Amino acid sequence: MKMESKSLLTGLLLSFAIFTSLIPAGMAEDIIERQETAKNVILLIGDGMGFPQLTLARIDKAGGNLSEYGDVELSMDGMQVSGYVSTYSANSFVTDSAPAATAIASGDKTNNGVIGQDATAVQGEKDGKNLTTILEMAEKAGLSTGLVTTTRITHATPAAFYAHVDNRDNESEIADQLLESDLEVILGGGLQYFVGMNQTDPAGKPGKRTDDRNLLAEFVSHGYVAVYNSSAFQDADANKTERLLGLFDSSHMLYELERSCSPDSEPSLADMTKKAIQILSTNPKGFFLMVEGGRIDHAAHERNLSKMAADTLAFDEAVNSSLNFASHDNQTLVIVTADHECGGLVLQPENLEEYEAGSIDPIFASGTAKTPGPRYDFITEMQEATHTAVDVPIMASGPGAEKVGHGKLDNTQIFSIMKEAFGF
Ligand SMILES: [Zn+2]
Repeated sequence: MKMESKSLLTGLLLSFAIFTSLIPAGMAEDIIERQETAKNVILLIGDGMGFPQLTLARIDKAGGNLSEYGDVELSMDGMQVSGYVSTYSANSFVTDSAPAATAIASGDKTNNGVIGQDATAVQGEKDGKNLTTILEMAEKAGLSTGLVTTTRITHATPAAFYAHVDNRDNESEIADQLLESDLEVILGGGLQYFVGMNQTDPAGKPGKRTDDRNLLAEFVSHGYVAVYNSSAFQDADANKTERLLGLFDSSHMLYELERSCSPDSEPSLADMTKKAIQILSTNPKGFFLMVEGGRIDHAAHERNLSKMAADTLAFDEAVNSSLNFASHDNQTLVIVTADHECGGLVLQPENLEEYEAGSIDPIFASGTAKTPGPRYDFITEMQEATHTAVDVPIMASGPGAEKVGHGKLDNTQIFSIMKEAFGF
């Protein structure tokens, strides 16, 4: 829709310019030509990764030793510019991943639970107007596109880059839309929404689709090489693979702490990111890649500090792989951010003795405030932690990165920064 009205506008401007000579020369060309500052954009989203999650990851990397902590740096700490981002949705101070990723992908606020549609949508009740995503713009311009995540590929954050539904839970429909989206690289979990309930997925579990479609077979007939475990993934030759579908779990992929190195296990987020870049970078026009560290959020919901720290560090490895590529090619904008914080992680001493001893005892504040009693009492009875309204970090490197380093951004502005970098 947007492209059609754009070319209509261009046509009007051209005839107007010829007729009256009032339009400055070159203006019509500016509208239709791609004047990119970046050939490629890699966007990395740590789901649920607020500032305290980063601090905890550094403490974990230092092995909990204060003497080593000062020398510890994450890869994302060394990026050229950094700032912070507001994350509220159209109908809540506290967003979920659906409107947060929609804002980043399409530049518009929408309501909680809604994917790729504007705020006239009501979750599960009423469709809104479909928004155009940065990934769809890149596809239309002939660039290659890819999505890499540790969640189901139909989960809210990746879905917001290719799907348009009024309810994030419609994952079968989201999978249908993925097939129609023509991406070059798709890596993550979520096999269950690709086969019917009467079928068994390649991980050995029953599917969840109510129709009898086998989307995996349909992807293969669309020219995708399909892989379902780590060794087949490693064997896929990036130079010979034009389209890669790698789905490694029925649902979400394993937490980093649970992942093994056996050949039938799952590849790491960094390995998936490297392979995606190898395949996508064969397109001379450039590429767009979104990488999600999706389970940082899940560990925070579970209030599991060690899983959360390990998944944040695994995400940082993927950032490192992206920065390594960008430093050689010099034409890649790399942006790292989060969709929201999760858990209200507090890095504090538990009491005065701990404070005086210089140690901390991290807790998740979210969900605890209304429950009286000693902390460990309510931790056992507490429900899962929730997202919070606090701002999240953003870092950027490469051409176009300077737009990030000017104080607070809103999540919708990340879309504009990527769009301008691409020259769309
Ligand atoms: Zn969450």
